[in-house]
Amino acid sequence: MITRNELKNIIFHTAIIGGGAGGLMCAGSFSAPKILIERNAQPGAKVSVSGGGKCNFSNRFVSAADYLSQNKHFCKNALAAFQPQDFLRLLDENKIPWEERPQGRLFACSAAEIVRMLVRRAKNTGTRFLTHTLALEVRFENGLFIIDTSAGPVRAQRVVLACGGLSFPGLGAGSFGFKTAQKFGLTIVQQRPALVGLSFPKALREQFCKLAGNSLQAAVSCGQHMFEDSLLFTHEGISGPAVLSASLYWTPEQPVTINFLPQDDALSLLHSQKNTAKTFSAALHGKLPPKIAKTLLGPLEGDLSNAPRQHLQAAANRLNRFSFVPQGTVGYTRAEVTAGGVDTRAINPSTFEAKQAPGLYIIGELLDVTGRLGGFNLHWAWCSGFSAAKALEKQF
Ligand SMILES: Cc1cc2nc3c(=O)[nH]c(=O)nc-3n(C[C@H](O)[C@H](O)[C@H](O)COP(=O)(O)OP(=O)(O)OC[C@H]3O[C@@H](n4cnc5c(N)ncnc54)[C@H](O)[C@@H]3O)c2cc1C
Repeated sequence: MITRNELKNIIFHTAIIGGGAGGLMCAGSFSAPKILIERNAQPGAKVSVSGGGKCNFSNRFVSAADYLSQNKHFCKNALAAFQPQDFLRLLDENKIPWEERPQGRLFACSAAEIVRMLVRRAKNTGTRFLTHTLALEVRFENGLFIIDTSAGPVRAQRVVLACGGLSFPGLGAGSFGFKTAQKFGLTIVQQRPALVGLSFPKALREQFCKLAGNSLQAAVSCGQHMFEDSLLFTHEGISGPAVLSASLYWTPEQPVTINFLPQDDALSLLHSQKNTAKTFSAALHGKLPPKIAKTLLGPLEGDLSNAPRQHLQAAANRLNRFSFVPQGTVGYTRAEVTAGGVDTRAINPSTFEAKQAPGLYIIGELLDVTGRLGGFNLHWAWCSGFSAAKALEKQF
């Protein structure tokens, strides 16, 4: 820990604000006298809980197509400069086990081990840690950046904003990075919670609340985008990987369509059993859990053999094309990421320095670059932090 007295006497080469994924990667990727300011008592809070504690740290198949941004080519240089195998090499050098899961998703056995490795690397390259310290304001005066913090002012020649997005305020997120970027003349692409659960309108919430905690495979579509994966019913609406993925493309008032039987044509399935003594839900045995089938069918549930054709069609529509307009998302408190952010058109894509504010660098989730579900957001934090570090290294 660094004392107030020491702070008064040092001008750092670089001050990094935010000790999350991007800030830690940046700090550990170049040697210079630098300080990392983090509001939490321990750095890397989000990394520690990521991937359910196992940290889906990257994706073998990462490419620019995995990111949403108003400036879709911006991420390419950084993705080329730091690739999944570069992170794997770091893990191997530090004897941290990892595994590859379907669709190239790379996981560690323990997210905490990754945080420890990143902190060690940062310390070994001359980073002083100022934790439990809130950055309050950044000023540029007489050729120096002055960061007012809850521990007193910090002086540095360059500043890296690595404060992350707005999601999960309980883990340290806040608006400081966005406000500081705006103060230095950068614009913000409207932020919104993403990779987040969607809430049902009131009537559907009442109808489906008894399914909370149940999950199944489903295909969730939003506009042109369709994701087949697990769907989880919650007390508010729906969540799970298929829904989180679709939420990245959802805009208010837009309908979302769920196919609860993505492998089957529901109408043919019901028709083929019309001459049996089964109920609708019994005809779906082995295809859908009975509780989910009955709730989905609602008043249509009944004897299949006596049902008129339009009942079969209505049931098939509910099963293959269940469409509704979500009331909203469940918000920043539970969103995995913040979409939108600092407009990247004003950022150099190789160095991450703000074009109009020399010496100010912006990395990670603060930027208007949002990855799909599957390790892409942490990879963005690593590669943007690494690229900024390489640019800063040249100035030492
Ligand atoms: C529950 C959860 C699980 C996730 N799982 C995954 C996953 O498995 N794979 C994946 O790719 N992505 C995952 N993500 C997303 C990923 O964690 C983030 O995109 C990534 O951490 C962003 O890195 P960052 O460095 O930009 O911000 P962060 O890692 O959020 O770091 C920002 C840091 O800045 C600090 N800070 C903010 N304001 C101030 C201030 N004023 N003063 C001082 N410090 C400040 C914060 O405390 C924080 O430590 C997950 C997110 C959540 C919430």
